[in-house]
Amino acid sequence: MPDLNDVFTPALAELQARQLLRHRRQATLGDHGQFTVDGAPRLAFCSNDYLGLAQHPALVAAAREAAERYGVGSTASPLVSGHSPAHELLERELAEFVGMPRALYFHSGFATNVGCVAALVGRGDAVFSDALNHACLIDGARLSRADIHVYPHNDMAALERELRACTAPRKLVISDAVFSMDGDLAPLPELLALCERHDAWLMVDDAHGFGVLGEGGRGYLSHWGVKPSTIASRVIYMATLGKAAGVSGAFVAGSVPAIEWLMQRARSYMFATGAPALIAEALRASLRVIEAEGWRREHLKVLHARLREGLQGLPWEAPASDTAIQPLILGDNATALKVMADLEARGIWVPAIRPPTVPVGTSRLRICLSADHRLEDVDRLCGALREIAQS
Ligand SMILES: *Cc1c(COP(=O)(O)O)cnc(C)c1O
Repeated sequence: MPDLNDVFTPALAELQARQLLRHRRQATLGDHGQFTVDGAPRLAFCSNDYLGLAQHPALVAAAREAAERYGVGSTASPLVSGHSPAHELLERELAEFVGMPRALYFHSGFATNVGCVAALVGRGDAVFSDALNHACLIDGARLSRADIHVYPHNDMAALERELRACTAPRKLVISDAVFSMDGDLAPLPELLALCERHDAWLMVDDAHGFGVLGEGGRGYLSHWGVKPSTIASRVIYMATLGKAAGVSGAFVAGSVPAIEWLMQRARSYMFATGAPALIAEALRASLRVIEAEGWRREHLKVLHARLREGLQGLPWEAPASDTAIQPLILGDNATALKVMADLEARGIWVPAIRPPTVPVGTSRLRICLSADHRLEDVDRLCGALREIAQS
């Protein structure tokens, strides 16, 4: 058998040849969405810190005080000694915030989906998964050993056909609430109606809607005017807390027995060290800021309208987006990388997203707005894109 070097040196060279090799930058967040990237200042449109909370003084102070009180490590799984009073309060406040009977906090969103999907269904059951779902929902479905039915993106007619034909004892529909590479929404009323008609459960991943959508930033369910407690017997709501909430980790919320089951059986919860209490305290502060500083969501809407206006007339498609995520579809990898480099030469950082993250032929710039941006920052981005398009 060839050794590790013999296998992976050519494998990496092949990624390089296909323009799929990724590089990390050393990035430090500053003011107004500015980062220092490998030592140079960059106006960045790449962070998921949609509300600009990652450096909010109230969150930083909460984390600092919690470090003094609890130290920095959580010591064990939450089922052993890794669940502090701070975690307990956070879970209660999360449940109350999204209007569900109970919530369970996980150290990461990826771990949440992988563990929860696999704990909800098993061999002989069926999972119905939107074609554009996030990798961790897909991996959770695979890990569950249930049969996986992938339906075309947001195609409710196709989903209904699959559901109608299915005789599995448990059916679980899984969907991103806001699709992470396009910024569009899954149609909750239709999803709920289908799940009721065909007796399926629904799990929605609101990584990009929590904090941004809905009344007071309560997220996707609130956006659609659905009262969460009325659907808790069928729906598991999941959201991450490292994006708009500005910290890290994630949670699931739903009925008391369902969430208790996930605590008992999600392996990524049981067999992982809990997040530090200082993270839980920073998140509690974040919930208060999300609610109190509604101007951040308002400002994001103003920035979004300005961006949509500024992207008009460019030779690239900018599909309508409902959120702070705005894709600009460039096509092949080389074009996406070229435009990214041309922006970078002008001091602007927008990541090029390539397969396998997005389908082949839809390589794109994923422009992310943050409440930290100013109108002039958006104007600078649009001006640079116009220059690049004409050059
Ligand atoms: C980012 C993301 C996750 C993963 O959450 P982490 O906390 O970053 O692990 C899950 N689902 C979606 C849709 C995401 O965008």
